[in-house]
Amino acid sequence: MSSYPHLLQPITIAGVTLRNRALMGSMHTGLEETGDWNRVAAFYAARARGGAGLIVTGGMAPNREGGVFPGAAGLFTDQDIANHARVTDAVHAEGGHIVMQILHAGRYAYSKDCVAPSAVKSPISPFPPRELDEEGIEKQIADIATAAVRAVQAGYDGVEVMGSEGYFLNQFLVTHTNRRTDGWGGAYANRMRLPVETVARVRAAMGPKAILIYRISLIDLVPDGSTWDEVVELAHAIETAGASVLNTGIGWHEARVPTIATSVPRAAFADLTARLRPEVTIPVITSNRINTPEVAEGLLARGVADMVSMARPWLADEAFIAKAASGRAAEIAPCIACNQACLDHTFSGKLTSCLVNPRACHETELTYALTQTPKRIAVVGAGPAGMMASIVAAGRGHSVTLFDKATQVGGQLNLAKQVPGKEEFHGLVDWFATSLQHPNITLQLGAQATAEDLRDFDEVIVATGVTPRDPGIPTDAGAKVISYIDVLQGAAVGRRVAVVGAGGIGFDVAETLVHEGTSPTLDQSLWRAEWGVSAPWDNRGGLAPEGPAPHPAAREVHLLQRKAEKPGRHLGKTTGWIHRASLAMKGVRMVGGVNYERITAEGLLISHGPNRERPELLAVDAVVLCAGQEPERGLSDGLTRAGIPHHLIGGADVAAELDAKRAIDQAARLAARL
Ligand code: NAP
Ligand code: SF4
Repeated sequence: MSSYPHLLQPITIAGVTLRNRALMGSMHTGLEETGDWNRVAAFYAARARGGAGLIVTGGMAPNREGGVFPGAAGLFTDQDIANHARVTDAVHAEGGHIVMQILHAGRYAYSKDCVAPSAVKSPISPFPPRELDEEGIEKQIADIATAAVRAVQAGYDGVEVMGSEGYFLNQFLVTHTNRRTDGWGGAYANRMRLPVETVARVRAAMGPKAILIYRISLIDLVPDGSTWDEVVELAHAIETAGASVLNTGIGWHEARVPTIATSVPRAAFADLTARLRPEVTIPVITSNRINTPEVAEGLLARGVADMVSMARPWLADEAFIAKAASGRAAEIAPCIACNQACLDHTFSGKLTSCLVNPRACHETELTYALTQTPKRIAVVGAGPAGMMASIVAAGRGHSVTLFDKATQVGGQLNLAKQVPGKEEFHGLVDWFATSLQHPNITLQLGAQATAEDLRDFDEVIVATGVTPRDPGIPTDAGAKVISYIDVLQGAAVGRRVAVVGAGGIGFDVAETLVHEGTSPTLDQSLWRAEWGVSAPWDNRGGLAPEGPAPHPAAREVHLLQRKAEKPGRHLGKTTGWIHRASLAMKGVRMVGGVNYERITAEGLLISHGPNRERPELLAVDAVVLCAGQEPERGLSDGLTRAGIPHHLIGGADVAAELDAKRAIDQAARLAARL
């Protein structure tokens, strides 16, 4: 019997039999906007081939004013329908099913033409919305129903109506954004009229034989959000209006609580879906931070939901279910919930991809074809770049020898996994280690490769990584100065610490230093207390009235940088605020614009500003250096001297941008063309 009997069990919805309980959740990829529909079709077809039970597309705009940004894709013309038909045909040809999400952004639309129930600007948008009149509301409903009809014409198996995350329909539900006094505002029955009317009209327009998912917000995580009674009342009304499934939505986009970041515990919100399930007779789908078949299976086995939605995990591995079903779950590339190549790209106007899988959304352009001319390839350095290069090259039929002077693979990923809130890196290192167990790969660990060792290979790839930068601060004898590497490996630092450098690693080190005991990421009750999350049946919107109540900081920490700007400004676009808020809650003092004058036995002497004013002695037990990296090019230089051509990748190539996303992408692209 399969290890995942519940996950792999078919389910019939609106007369459509889905082959398993795994839903690929909606993600905006930016592919539709490229206009290359071969590419869109290839992306979704790969996920269908990989076993997704039901795919939900990225959100399609029902009209111009409802688009997330100007020019957002939608089914506006016959050509649009023909383009989407290529996608649905490709998915159906793989035995999959696909529905189109209709996303009306309301006041979240990045446009001066945005519309909303009331003219209340969102804190995350520069544009005040226009308040809709009755006629305007009717137009929005009609446009959504028309989009649904067009979706069916394009061959979709139905639609998902986006009613959560603080988008248009959600905005009508709460008094904070709906201040109307007509029949669309005031009492809850009026406030929920728009979503209910929309679902009824979509159902009537599509007919009974199409899947209609309504994504309902189970916890708004904003002040004045819905109560649980209101959520249940809405769920009943949406079911009666003709929805075939309820999908779980968590938190408005403007919420100051992380909902999908890597520090959020796995399946942190599944108990909300479990509480909704007995209230309705239609299937319910649970969501958020579910990234392994084990977690998905466990939720279904416990009766939490009828289906499990995973979105980003389908970027990390398009064959998620195919591997789970064939006993190869350990080979599933894990989504580590970093957002670095998906949401951070989306919000920077870049095409979505995946840190772990650079082929995501690049299926037609980055291919790992079998080689006709197998070579002997040496790869030096078993960090992310070296491991990825080895795996791709070996998969293509080359014979790879991977050297590392360390006795385990993973490089700096082994440091990342020590950081509280970054536990997902354990799974990533495990996946790399599993993937390296390939018949074409010989591992030479604990082996310092020299230029002469590499002379006889056909290709040499140097992925030797980085060494920490010494910032050269004058230091007295007796001062305690320590590298971030030692801190993350558990070295003692005392109770008062100054961290020099506030890049990604400075933040990680500060996070490590202020934590003590169990990581909140591994304990849902600790995590909820830390972020002030309560149950929506206890408090409106699911926000604890007392606010965040994190554990007291384990240490007094100063996090410093020379740049005269807010520390953390260059962290991930969608996650930087979480790191800053987390450290602020722990009382970490984050200071920009400092000069490092001297490290003494008493602490760190700094001054402020370009004129070196306000000298200040930070009385600390240790100074931790997180001042960036230099490329480790000793081997590369030796190879050059010996006249041995080689490829330089990862941090050894560009340390300034040392990051796993760039390293893995560069490695995969090199190995794909060797
Ligand atoms: P970084 O991001 O380049 O930051 C280096 C820090 O050191 C900066 O705060 C810089 O600020 C300071 N610095 C640079 N030269 C200095 C000098 N000579 N003396 C004193 N301070 C100096 O490097 P990192 O923190 O080592 O991180 C490396 C990379 O790892 C990141 O770019 C990122 O891609 C990746 N990473 C990411 C995350 C994440 O959260 N996504 C986490 C960990 C690592 P000033 O120059 O203003 O002083
Ligand atoms: Fe997951 Fe990170 Fe890949 Fe996004 S980039 S899909 S969060 S691993």
